[in-house]
Amino acid sequence: MEVTGKSKYIYSDSELDRSEGQIIETLKAQSQQPLADPDAWLDEEIDRNILLTTVDAVFDWARRYSVWPAMFAPACCAFEMICMAASRFDLSRFGMEIFRASPRQADLMLCAGTMTWKMAPQLKRIYEQMAEPKWVIAMGACAISGGIFRSSYAVVPGYNRIIPVDVYVPGCPPRPEAVLHGIRMLHRKIAEGHVNIELNPLKAKQERLKDT
Ligand code: SF4
Repeated sequence: MEVTGKSKYIYSDSELDRSEGQIIETLKAQSQQPLADPDAWLDEEIDRNILLTTVDAVFDWARRYSVWPAMFAPACCAFEMICMAASRFDLSRFGMEIFRASPRQADLMLCAGTMTWKMAPQLKRIYEQMAEPKWVIAMGACAISGGIFRSSYAVVPGYNRIIPVDVYVPGCPPRPEAVLHGIRMLHRKIAEGHVNIELNPLKAKQERLKDT
């Protein structure tokens, strides 16, 4: 580059223009990359930390781990039921250790024993006094079909003649493990329930009355 006596600058105007143009072109070329998404990390974070669910699922989850059984044990299966609630089999693991003396505070009837026709009206009344939603487990041969007393004039041949039964646990008597298995089956059934029906006790009652 020559320094002429006529110009007071080292660089000529055209050289300056060209140099500026090169700088701009270089900068332009370097600025054409797509911008990085500042929220890209969110996808992984959301996957790990946000759980999408429905109100039904939350209600059913809460219900199945807070089922309170009504005290209802008219015969010898009761001893296995009591055993199941004690420390060895530990029913409290499922939030169920509170056996209620009032049907209005219970939502599970664990039918443990032979039912006679004389007691049947009381069974029906206790069931109807329980709060909605409610479930029934028939525990043992007598509760399922009358068991060894099936041919007796005095014995109801199965609780399902009087009230709807959700789960049947066979045995005479069934072991506590078998009853726990039945309870886990009931939990699965509750998990598949629908809140719309169960939240409307009037509708549920009307449906029941229609069936009877
Ligand atoms: S099933 Fe067996 S143990 Fe249970 S109530 Fe009947 S006779 Fe008793």
